[in-house]
Amino acid sequence: MSSALETLRPDFGGDIIEPGGAEYESASRSVLASGSPAYVLRPGSVGDVQAGVRFAVDSGLPLSVRGGGHGFPGFGTNDGGVVIDLSRLAAVEIVDKDRRIVRIGGGATWGQVAAALAPHNLAISSGDTKSVGVGGLTLIGGIGWKVRKYGLALDNLVAVELVTADAEVVRASAEENAELFWAVRGGGGNFGIVTAFEFTAHPTTDVFFGRIAFPAAELATVLQGWADHLRTAPEALTSIVDFANPFAGGREAPVEVHVAFDGDDAELAAQAIDPIRRLGTVLDDDVALKPYADILVDGMTPPPGIQLVTRSAFVDEDSVPEVLRILAEVGASERPPIVAVRSVGAAVARVPDDATAYAHRRAELMFATTIIGPAPVVDAARPALEAIWGRLAPHVNGVYANFLTAHAAEDVAAIYPAGTYQRLAVVKHQYDPGNLFAGNHNVRPE
Ligand SMILES: Cc1cc2nc3c(=O)[nH]c(=O)nc-3n(C[C@H](O)[C@H](O)[C@H](O)COP(=O)(O)OP(=O)(O)OC[C@H]3O[C@@H](n4cnc5c(N)ncnc54)[C@H](O)[C@@H]3O)c2cc1C
Repeated sequence: MSSALETLRPDFGGDIIEPGGAEYESASRSVLASGSPAYVLRPGSVGDVQAGVRFAVDSGLPLSVRGGGHGFPGFGTNDGGVVIDLSRLAAVEIVDKDRRIVRIGGGATWGQVAAALAPHNLAISSGDTKSVGVGGLTLIGGIGWKVRKYGLALDNLVAVELVTADAEVVRASAEENAELFWAVRGGGGNFGIVTAFEFTAHPTTDVFFGRIAFPAAELATVLQGWADHLRTAPEALTSIVDFANPFAGGREAPVEVHVAFDGDDAELAAQAIDPIRRLGTVLDDDVALKPYADILVDGMTPPPGIQLVTRSAFVDEDSVPEVLRILAEVGASERPPIVAVRSVGAAVARVPDDATAYAHRRAELMFATTIIGPAPVVDAARPALEAIWGRLAPHVNGVYANFLTAHAAEDVAAIYPAGTYQRLAVVKHQYDPGNLFAGNHNVRPE
């Protein structure tokens, strides 16, 4: 082991953090998981990433790759292995002003991206949280506040540069290594460490954003009316409904409809949002014009010992009424999970099914349930959660892997249609036949 480390040191310009070191405590954990890795490597350059990969291979230890560290399964850390933490590779650079091409380091967060692009009136369709990583979110999908107008984060990707399992630097785009480019857009961190993402950014203005709250008793009608409205609403409107938040009263908590209207025209925004206001008794409405970079929120780091179990699914148009009926009953039940329902469709659905490995183009909605608490609380809640998912199963399809804590083979099988998984496995075999990059929703080499 130490010989692998001695080989690494002269090649490595980044930080090597070991147990007992000053930074080890914070460096050893990802946002949602504690760990006790033997080494946390923080590369400062692409060459360092290559050296880190060689070290992981030579040491024979398990490898975790950490972008923003927000993965629900805690993929960003491990026990006794190597963590490559990309947080120093976070530069955001506009490399082609006319085509609005932005190059982003593999360890940047969406807050860093939004802040860097704001002075140029640009933005990239991403997520809702500043501290979430560009890496994890994009490599699986990216469902954020501009998703109905500009698609997933990965739909705006034009190229990646990654370090493969044999420590080579490879570029993938529609023109170069096109099959790898297909695979990284939905196949997660299975194929290598992305050191740079290149996106097409879109022009942005301030946006109308906020929360419209309704009484819990109106959940069923608000949900159905919301989904009906989103079906024909302008694509500039993206919306998420949250309910049963245990920190706001559980089943008594208000139904919160969050809206983001991509544009600063007050009249158009009102036309898009007012039908939502008419869905029930408005308890609170704080929708206002805000800079896009300000609508992303800070993620919270739960205290050690607190677990989050998140599970998700997609809903096609025909199943929307039944799924929302079940979810409304779930919300009114005793000690429900937190439920968040996101509008997708629109620009997401215009991309052909086989253009990327993200395989849920037909869905109108994506929703997630989350239970949160110390292990005994989470364990006690599991049977009820299983029963809920048993009721939902006939009406939903697929899983959004970015909202999925479980990661056994059968969980991964539910993420991809069989044909997509097979195609990913072939690419995996080509770029990572030894499955070095296994700390993820793992596609096994064919
Ligand atoms: C508070 C919160 C809010 C969220 N909001 C949204 C949202 O609005 N929309 C949405 O779509 N998702 C959202 N998510 C889900 C989020 O997209 C996933 O948790 C995602 O995995 C986080 O990425 P990360 O880089 O921060 O995580 P990490 O734990 O660092 O990484 C997760 C996985 O991605 C791989 N990975 C990360 N970076 C790279 C890289 N550069 N190269 C290769 N592999 C890499 C890792 O190996 C790991 O397998 C949210 C999650 C949280 C906790």
